[in-house]
Amino acid sequence: MVLDKLGQSLNNALRKLARASSVDEALVREVVRDIQRALLTSDVNVRLVLDLTKKIEKRALEERPPAGVSKKEHIIKIVYEELTNFLGKEAKPIEIKEKPTVLLTVGIQGSGKTTSVAKLARYFQKHGYKVGLVCSDTWRPGAYSQLKQLVEPYGIEVFGNPEEKDAVKLAREGVEQFKKKGVDVIIVDSAGRHKEEKGLIEEMKQISEAINPHEVILVIDGTIGQQAYNQALAFKEATPIGSIIVTKLDGSAKGGGALSAVVATGAPIKFIGVGEKIDDLEPFDPKRFVSRLLG
Ligand code: GDP
Repeated sequence: MVLDKLGQSLNNALRKLARASSVDEALVREVVRDIQRALLTSDVNVRLVLDLTKKIEKRALEERPPAGVSKKEHIIKIVYEELTNFLGKEAKPIEIKEKPTVLLTVGIQGSGKTTSVAKLARYFQKHGYKVGLVCSDTWRPGAYSQLKQLVEPYGIEVFGNPEEKDAVKLAREGVEQFKKKGVDVIIVDSAGRHKEEKGLIEEMKQISEAINPHEVILVIDGTIGQQAYNQALAFKEATPIGSIIVTKLDGSAKGGGALSAVVATGAPIKFIGVGEKIDDLEPFDPKRFVSRLLG
Protein backbone atom coordinates (compact mmCIF):
# COMPACT_ATOMS: atom_id res chain seq x y z
CA MET A 1 0.00 0.00 0.00
CA VAL A 2 0.91 3.60 -0.61
CA LEU A 3 3.32 5.22 1.85
CA ASP A 4 3.84 1.95 3.67
CA LYS A 5 6.98 3.03 5.47
CA LEU A 6 5.54 6.28 6.73
CA GLY A 7 2.50 4.38 7.95
CA GLN A 8 4.67 1.85 9.76
CA SER A 9 6.78 4.48 11.48
CA LEU A 10 3.73 6.47 12.56
CA ASN A 11 2.13 3.29 13.83
CA ASN A 12 5.21 2.43 15.83
CA ALA A 13 5.07 5.88 17.44
CA LEU A 14 1.42 5.44 18.35
CA ARG A 15 2.01 1.91 19.61
CA LYS A 16 4.64 3.25 21.97
CA LEU A 17 1.95 5.48 23.37
CA ALA A 18 -0.65 2.73 23.53
CA ARG A 19 1.71 0.34 25.35
CA ALA A 20 2.84 2.81 28.02
CA SER A 21 1.44 2.29 31.50
CA SER A 22 1.00 6.01 32.04
CA VAL A 23 1.22 9.05 29.80
CA ASP A 24 3.44 11.86 31.00
CA GLU A 25 5.00 14.86 29.34
CA ALA A 26 8.26 13.05 28.56
CA LEU A 27 6.39 10.31 26.71
CA VAL A 28 4.33 12.82 24.72
CA ARG A 29 7.51 14.59 23.66
CA GLU A 30 9.12 11.29 22.71
CA VAL A 31 6.14 10.21 20.61
CA VAL A 32 6.02 13.61 18.92
CA ARG A 33 9.71 13.29 18.10
CA ASP A 34 9.05 9.85 16.59
CA ILE A 35 6.28 11.31 14.44
CA GLN A 36 8.63 14.10 13.39
CA ARG A 37 11.29 11.61 12.36
CA ALA A 38 8.75 9.50 10.45
CA LEU A 39 7.57 12.50 8.43
CA LEU A 40 11.07 13.82 7.78
CA THR A 41 12.33 10.50 6.47
CA SER A 42 9.29 10.46 4.16
CA ASP A 43 10.46 13.75 2.61
CA VAL A 44 7.87 16.06 4.08
CA ASN A 45 9.26 19.61 4.17
CA VAL A 46 11.05 20.35 7.46
CA ARG A 47 9.20 23.53 8.30
CA LEU A 48 5.86 21.86 7.70
CA VAL A 49 6.82 18.93 9.89
CA LEU A 50 7.78 21.28 12.71
CA ASP A 51 4.50 23.21 12.40
CA LEU A 52 2.46 20.04 12.39
CA THR A 53 4.22 18.33 15.27
CA LYS A 54 4.19 21.50 17.35
CA LYS A 55 0.40 21.55 16.99
CA ILE A 56 0.16 17.89 17.95
CA GLU A 57 2.43 18.38 20.95
CA LYS A 58 0.59 21.47 22.19
CA ARG A 59 -2.82 19.81 21.96
CA ALA A 60 -1.54 16.54 23.46
CA LEU A 61 -0.07 18.36 26.45
CA GLU A 62 -2.83 20.90 27.01
CA GLU A 63 -6.13 19.26 26.12
CA ARG A 64 -8.03 17.33 28.69
CA PRO A 65 -9.71 14.23 27.26
CA PRO A 66 -13.52 14.23 27.33
CA ALA A 67 -15.22 12.06 29.96
CA GLY A 68 -14.85 8.35 29.31
CA VAL A 69 -11.88 8.80 26.96
CA SER A 70 -8.40 7.91 28.18
CA LYS A 71 -5.50 10.27 27.69
CA LYS A 72 -3.88 7.82 25.27
CA GLU A 73 -7.00 7.49 23.13
CA HIS A 74 -7.35 11.23 23.05
CA ILE A 75 -3.77 11.79 21.91
CA ILE A 76 -4.17 9.18 19.17
CA LYS A 77 -7.29 11.03 18.04
CA ILE A 78 -5.33 14.30 17.98
CA VAL A 79 -2.70 12.71 15.73
CA TYR A 80 -5.43 11.48 13.35
CA GLU A 81 -7.11 14.86 13.30
CA GLU A 82 -3.98 16.89 12.74
CA LEU A 83 -2.68 14.60 9.98
CA THR A 84 -6.07 14.78 8.26
CA ASN A 85 -6.12 18.59 8.57
CA PHE A 86 -2.63 18.65 7.12
CA LEU A 87 -3.92 16.81 4.06
CA GLY A 88 -6.91 19.07 3.49
CA LYS A 89 -9.62 17.73 5.81
CA GLU A 90 -12.64 16.77 3.74
CA ALA A 91 -12.58 14.93 0.43
CA LYS A 92 -13.52 17.44 -2.23
CA PRO A 93 -14.23 16.09 -5.70
CA ILE A 94 -13.80 18.29 -8.77
CA GLU A 95 -17.24 19.73 -9.24
CA ILE A 96 -18.90 20.12 -12.61
CA LYS A 97 -21.14 22.99 -11.58
CA GLU A 98 -21.29 24.69 -14.90
CA LYS A 99 -21.29 23.30 -18.42
CA PRO A 100 -18.79 23.37 -19.83
CA THR A 101 -16.40 23.28 -16.89
CA VAL A 102 -12.88 24.13 -18.06
CA LEU A 103 -9.95 22.51 -16.27
CA LEU A 104 -6.29 23.35 -16.87
CA THR A 105 -3.57 20.88 -15.88
CA VAL A 106 -0.06 22.06 -15.12
CA GLY A 107 3.07 20.20 -14.05
CA ILE A 108 6.61 19.34 -14.98
CA GLN A 109 7.30 16.95 -17.84
CA GLY A 110 7.47 13.40 -16.60
CA SER A 111 5.14 14.07 -13.69
CA GLY A 112 2.47 11.96 -15.35
CA LYS A 113 0.43 14.91 -16.53
CA THR A 114 -0.61 13.57 -19.92
CA THR A 115 -1.53 10.20 -18.44
CA SER A 116 -3.50 11.97 -15.71
CA VAL A 117 -5.39 14.08 -18.24
CA ALA A 118 -6.43 10.89 -20.04
CA LYS A 119 -7.39 9.28 -16.72
CA LEU A 120 -9.42 12.32 -15.68
CA ALA A 121 -11.20 12.37 -19.03
CA ARG A 122 -12.11 8.72 -18.61
CA TYR A 123 -13.20 9.35 -15.01
CA PHE A 124 -15.62 12.09 -16.05
CA GLN A 125 -16.84 10.05 -19.00
CA LYS A 126 -17.65 7.17 -16.64
CA HIS A 127 -19.63 9.64 -14.56
CA GLY A 128 -21.78 10.49 -17.54
CA TYR A 129 -20.07 13.63 -18.83
CA LYS A 130 -19.05 14.39 -22.39
CA VAL A 131 -15.39 15.37 -22.33
CA GLY A 132 -13.14 17.23 -24.77
CA LEU A 133 -9.36 17.38 -24.42
CA VAL A 134 -7.09 20.16 -25.63
CA CYS A 135 -3.39 19.59 -26.12
CA SER A 136 -1.59 22.92 -25.87
CA ASP A 137 1.86 21.40 -25.40
CA THR A 138 3.89 22.85 -28.27
CA TRP A 139 7.26 21.82 -26.82
CA ARG A 140 7.19 18.08 -26.68
CA PRO A 141 6.95 16.34 -30.02
CA GLY A 142 4.33 13.64 -29.85
CA ALA A 143 2.36 15.16 -26.96
CA TYR A 144 -0.76 15.41 -29.09
CA SER A 145 -0.53 11.89 -30.50
CA GLN A 146 0.22 10.43 -27.04
CA LEU A 147 -2.94 11.95 -25.63
CA LYS A 148 -4.97 10.89 -28.67
CA GLN A 149 -3.72 7.34 -28.41
CA LEU A 150 -4.62 7.12 -24.73
CA VAL A 151 -8.23 8.21 -25.14
CA GLU A 152 -9.07 7.05 -28.65
CA PRO A 153 -10.41 3.66 -27.50
CA TYR A 154 -13.01 5.55 -25.46
CA GLY A 155 -14.16 7.88 -28.20
CA ILE A 156 -12.88 10.99 -26.40
CA GLU A 157 -11.96 13.78 -28.78
CA VAL A 158 -8.63 15.63 -28.61
CA PHE A 159 -8.03 19.07 -30.09
CA GLY A 160 -4.49 19.89 -31.10
CA ASN A 161 -2.14 20.78 -33.90
CA PRO A 162 1.46 19.54 -33.82
CA GLU A 163 2.43 22.27 -36.34
CA GLU A 164 1.20 25.16 -34.22
CA LYS A 165 3.81 26.89 -32.06
CA ASP A 166 1.54 29.27 -30.16
CA ALA A 167 0.35 27.42 -27.04
CA VAL A 168 -1.96 30.19 -25.91
CA LYS A 169 -3.70 30.27 -29.27
CA LEU A 170 -4.09 26.48 -29.26
CA ALA A 171 -5.60 26.50 -25.79
CA ARG A 172 -8.01 29.29 -26.66
CA GLU A 173 -9.09 27.71 -29.96
CA GLY A 174 -9.51 24.28 -28.39
CA VAL A 175 -11.72 25.59 -25.61
CA GLU A 176 -13.79 27.63 -28.09
CA GLN A 177 -14.28 24.63 -30.35
CA PHE A 178 -15.44 22.35 -27.54
CA LYS A 179 -17.74 25.06 -26.20
CA LYS A 180 -19.45 25.14 -29.60
CA LYS A 181 -19.70 21.36 -29.57
CA GLY A 182 -21.48 21.47 -26.24
CA VAL A 183 -19.22 19.19 -24.19
CA ASP A 184 -19.59 19.15 -20.39
CA VAL A 185 -15.94 19.12 -19.37
CA ILE A 186 -12.95 20.58 -21.24
CA ILE A 187 -9.50 19.60 -19.99
CA VAL A 188 -6.50 21.54 -21.29
CA ASP A 189 -3.14 19.81 -21.08
CA SER A 190 -0.32 22.35 -20.98
CA ALA A 191 3.39 21.92 -21.64
CA GLY A 192 5.67 20.53 -18.94
CA ARG A 193 8.90 21.54 -20.59
CA HIS A 194 10.15 24.79 -22.03
CA LYS A 195 13.39 26.49 -22.99
CA GLU A 196 13.63 27.49 -19.33
CA GLU A 197 11.48 27.24 -16.25
CA LYS A 198 10.64 30.93 -16.29
CA GLY A 199 9.23 30.55 -19.79
CA LEU A 200 7.11 27.62 -18.72
CA ILE A 201 5.65 29.50 -15.80
CA GLU A 202 4.98 32.56 -17.99
CA GLU A 203 3.22 30.40 -20.57
CA MET A 204 1.04 28.88 -17.83
CA LYS A 205 0.05 32.36 -16.75
CA GLN A 206 -0.91 33.39 -20.28
CA ILE A 207 -2.88 30.21 -20.97
CA SER A 208 -4.69 30.56 -17.69
CA GLU A 209 -5.62 34.16 -18.48
CA ALA A 210 -6.73 33.25 -22.01
CA ILE A 211 -9.06 30.39 -21.09
CA ASN A 212 -10.03 31.42 -17.55
CA PRO A 213 -10.36 27.85 -16.21
CA HIS A 214 -12.76 26.89 -13.43
CA GLU A 215 -9.92 25.03 -11.80
CA VAL A 216 -6.17 24.66 -12.29
CA ILE A 217 -4.92 21.19 -11.42
CA LEU A 218 -1.28 20.68 -10.49
CA VAL A 219 0.11 17.25 -11.31
CA ILE A 220 2.91 16.21 -8.97
CA ASP A 221 5.04 13.09 -9.23
CA GLY A 222 4.70 11.24 -5.92
CA THR A 223 8.26 10.01 -6.17
CA ILE A 224 10.17 13.30 -6.36
CA GLY A 225 10.62 13.93 -2.67
CA GLN A 226 11.71 17.33 -1.37
CA GLN A 227 11.64 19.03 -4.78
CA ALA A 228 7.86 18.87 -4.75
CA TYR A 229 7.57 21.75 -2.33
CA ASN A 230 9.48 24.29 -4.43
CA GLN A 231 7.97 23.03 -7.66
CA ALA A 232 4.49 23.52 -6.27
CA LEU A 233 5.36 27.02 -5.04
CA ALA A 234 6.67 28.02 -8.49
CA PHE A 235 3.42 26.96 -10.16
CA LYS A 236 1.35 28.60 -7.47
CA GLU A 237 2.99 31.93 -8.28
CA ALA A 238 1.85 31.64 -11.89
CA THR A 239 -1.67 30.37 -11.50
CA PRO A 240 -4.06 29.83 -8.64
CA ILE A 241 -3.78 26.08 -8.03
CA GLY A 242 -7.20 24.68 -7.16
CA SER A 243 -6.30 21.04 -6.71
CA ILE A 244 -3.55 18.48 -6.97
CA ILE A 245 -3.17 15.06 -8.49
CA VAL A 246 -0.33 13.03 -7.01
CA THR A 247 0.85 10.36 -9.42
CA LYS A 248 2.80 7.11 -9.15
CA LEU A 249 1.65 6.27 -5.65
CA ASP A 250 1.40 2.63 -6.69
CA GLY A 251 5.16 2.16 -6.52
CA SER A 252 7.52 2.55 -3.63
CA ALA A 253 6.95 6.30 -3.40
CA LYS A 254 7.45 7.76 0.01
CA GLY A 255 4.99 10.39 -1.02
CA GLY A 256 5.90 12.86 1.68
CA GLY A 257 7.16 15.40 -0.85
CA ALA A 258 3.77 15.43 -2.45
CA LEU A 259 2.19 16.05 0.92
CA SER A 260 4.45 19.09 1.24
CA ALA A 261 3.23 20.28 -2.15
CA VAL A 262 -0.30 20.23 -0.83
CA VAL A 263 0.59 22.54 1.97
CA ALA A 264 2.76 24.75 -0.27
CA THR A 265 -0.14 25.49 -2.59
CA GLY A 266 -2.88 25.38 0.00
CA ALA A 267 -4.79 23.22 -2.48
CA PRO A 268 -6.18 19.80 -1.67
CA ILE A 269 -5.18 16.55 -3.35
CA LYS A 270 -8.28 15.44 -5.25
CA PHE A 271 -6.99 12.37 -7.06
CA ILE A 272 -4.08 9.99 -6.82
CA GLY A 273 -2.56 8.04 -9.68
CA VAL A 274 -2.02 4.40 -8.79
CA GLY A 275 -0.80 2.87 -12.03
CA GLU A 276 -0.12 3.39 -15.71
CA LYS A 277 -3.53 2.30 -16.97
CA ILE A 278 -6.30 4.73 -17.75
CA ASP A 279 -8.49 3.50 -14.90
CA ASP A 280 -5.69 3.78 -12.31
CA LEU A 281 -6.97 7.00 -10.79
CA GLU A 282 -8.57 7.21 -7.34
CA PRO A 283 -10.44 10.09 -5.76
CA PHE A 284 -8.45 11.13 -2.72
CA ASP A 285 -10.09 11.11 0.69
CA PRO A 286 -7.81 12.53 3.43
CA LYS A 287 -9.70 10.81 6.25
CA ARG A 288 -9.59 7.44 4.60
CA PHE A 289 -5.99 7.98 3.61
CA VAL A 290 -4.89 8.73 7.18
CA SER A 291 -6.92 5.81 8.51
CA ARG A 292 -5.21 3.50 6.04
CA LEU A 293 -1.86 5.08 6.81
CA LEU A 294 -2.25 4.54 10.53
CA GLY A 295 -3.91 1.15 10.02
P1 GDP B 1 4.08 13.95 -18.62
O1 GDP B 1 5.40 14.18 -19.26
O2 GDP B 1 3.96 14.68 -17.33
O3 GDP B 1 2.92 14.21 -19.50
O4 GDP B 1 4.08 12.43 -18.17
P2 GDP B 1 3.40 11.14 -18.81
O5 GDP B 1 1.93 11.20 -18.63
O6 GDP B 1 3.90 10.91 -20.17
O7 GDP B 1 3.93 10.03 -17.79
C1 GDP B 1 5.31 9.76 -17.61
C2 GDP B 1 5.45 8.28 -17.24
O8 GDP B 1 4.86 8.06 -15.96
C3 GDP B 1 4.73 7.35 -18.19
O9 GDP B 1 5.54 6.22 -18.39
C4 GDP B 1 3.45 6.99 -17.45
O10 GDP B 1 2.97 5.71 -17.81
C5 GDP B 1 3.93 7.00 -16.02
N1 GDP B 1 2.84 7.25 -15.05
C6 GDP B 1 1.97 8.27 -15.03
N2 GDP B 1 1.15 8.16 -13.96
C7 GDP B 1 1.50 7.04 -13.30
C8 GDP B 1 1.03 6.38 -12.11
O11 GDP B 1 0.11 6.81 -11.41
N3 GDP B 1 1.68 5.22 -11.77
C9 GDP B 1 2.71 4.72 -12.51
N4 GDP B 1 3.27 3.59 -12.09
N5 GDP B 1 3.17 5.32 -13.60
C10 GDP B 1 2.58 6.45 -14.01
